[in-house]
Amino acid sequence: MSTTDSQRMEKIVSLCKRRGFIFQSSEIYGGLNGLWDYGPLGVELKRNLKNYWWRVMVHQRDDVVGMDGSILTHQDVLKASGHVEDFSDLMVDCRNCKSRFRADQIVQKNGVQQCPRCGSKDLTEPRAFNLMLETHIGSIDPRSGPIYRLLPAGLTTSNIAQPEISETSSVEVRYPAGEQVTIVYLRPETAQSIFVQFKNILDVSRKKLPFGIAQIGKAFRNEINPRNFTFRSREFEQMELEYFCRAEEGMKLLEYWKEERLKFYENIGLPSGKLHVLNVPEEERAFYSKGTYDIEYDFPFGRQELEGVAYRTNYDLKQHQDASKKPLEYFDEEKKERIIPHVVEPSAGVDRAVLALICEAYSEDQAPDEKGKMEARVVLRFHPRMAPIKCAVFPLLKNKEPLVAKAKEIVALLRPHMFVFYDESGAIGRRYRRQDEIGTPFGVTVDFETLGEKDPKLRDTVTLRERDSMKQERVRISDLLDLLSMRIA
Ligand code: ATP
Repeated sequence: MSTTDSQRMEKIVSLCKRRGFIFQSSEIYGGLNGLWDYGPLGVELKRNLKNYWWRVMVHQRDDVVGMDGSILTHQDVLKASGHVEDFSDLMVDCRNCKSRFRADQIVQKNGVQQCPRCGSKDLTEPRAFNLMLETHIGSIDPRSGPIYRLLPAGLTTSNIAQPEISETSSVEVRYPAGEQVTIVYLRPETAQSIFVQFKNILDVSRKKLPFGIAQIGKAFRNEINPRNFTFRSREFEQMELEYFCRAEEGMKLLEYWKEERLKFYENIGLPSGKLHVLNVPEEERAFYSKGTYDIEYDFPFGRQELEGVAYRTNYDLKQHQDASKKPLEYFDEEKKERIIPHVVEPSAGVDRAVLALICEAYSEDQAPDEKGKMEARVVLRFHPRMAPIKCAVFPLLKNKEPLVAKAKEIVALLRPHMFVFYDESGAIGRRYRRQDEIGTPFGVTVDFETLGEKDPKLRDTVTLRERDSMKQERVRISDLLDLLSMRIA
């Protein structure tokens, strides 16, 4: 990352905290690495993104239905999907500074591998590290003392002398009292619950191929090196669609969804010039995938993945059918045959898209202060569709009752339709500046002309200021709702 890019990133992280977009999780206790909390504005931005995704991927289509699955996942689901065995990253430890890295982050200098932190060449061999987080369910008496051991498959504390910690094959935990609890995983992706519910949803929705099941929800990965702010987190949200189809449609639909998803990112304000499609080469794809695209964005810290669009064949449904012994088939009326559908999966990260929106929106320019002197302005140029607050409403002066009353009337008019913010404190220029910094696209000011004091023709009109151009237009209050609704749609 160049100095300017890293400075830009620092400013973005600091703005996110200062204005309430994103905070470090458990900050007052020293924080937890790779975990983040969204504040009052961050949660609005995130919701706008998720709602828009849901609107275009589910509501505006005849061929997609939604679901919301549980986070805690049965071991057998993730065994069948291959996650218990294979969902791992290779990690390398530096024996000198004791740092741990993903093997692909180790730097090469003159053909020799070095620690990216201290430069030491004293590194361990790469070892597989399972990324799934697990917990247990069952009735546990918390007073029953020090208890928890992860055991290799088939072993209990009674049949081994020195239980070893296993990273991959733990299946069961026994407590001294003999009580047994079940290990469950915090899902590493939302997709598996869609596959597992495929038959139920097919039966209730009566959809015909091709059709999709969409889900937005949390996923968890014990990332070795969480980094780049929220980009690589241990808890994050995904927006996933599993689009089921016949085998012969798979490759065509892969192209279709790649294009649809690119359009989506442009429609939320990421310019096409900063979006890139990586055609993932065969040796880097999951073995069952016949084609995968990564949609990438130019973050200040480099070009990185926002979303994967993968043609996963019928691997997942087949695996679950074989493991559960329950049919997950589709009866093709035309051909009068049972098939296990294939699937194309566009899988997007909510947090990565939010971060891209903030990085894209962040800008600095000049704006006149109260006396007309130019001063530096920080502005988040969010697409109005994504902006946390759509419109701020200001009475010119807070101690003039008729101005305040009119401004509050406008708030009441707009509030049922969009998120508005009322602010009466400070000079009007300052109030604009505060809204610019959080990306509010429109500001409405109630002044003496609104009251018809100067020109009766201007009664019940307000100034509408646009954030990016700072241009002001005089509009009738009665036109305001339509005008704004059109611009934020
Ligand atoms: P990466 O290669 O960056 O680890 P991935 O290819 O493992 O990502 P997928 O398994 O395809 O990711 O997950 C789909 C999407 O979920 C990703 O494109 C990304 O937007 C999001 N995602 C995955 N891991 C994380 C994470 N640790 N933090 C935030 N978002 C993530």
